[in-house]
Amino acid sequence: MSNHRRRRKARKMSQRKREFLERAGYCNQHHNLSRCRGGNKSSQNLILFDERRHAAFHLLCGNRTLREAAELFIRLDNMRKKYYGM
Ligand SMILES: [Zn+2]
Repeated sequence: MSNHRRRRKARKMSQRKREFLERAGYCNQHHNLSRCRGGNKSSQNLILFDERRHAAFHLLCGNRTLREAAELFIRLDNMRKKYYGM
């Protein structure tokens, strides 16, 4: 890779990083076990999400824990395999 391409790639990566940090600047604390289900503010229960990912998680998964969400996606994938055989 030429020096010019390497510099361009580095500049592009730093722009991506800058954009990520801009988004991450709007970080939310996500409770793995939601407060309405008895979750607390301990560091074991809190996860930092940027705002967009946090909203997307709740849109897809409601108040499920990460493990419950993963189990839901596995169950959906198993249903897909059962019905479409892929
Ligand atoms: Zn949350």
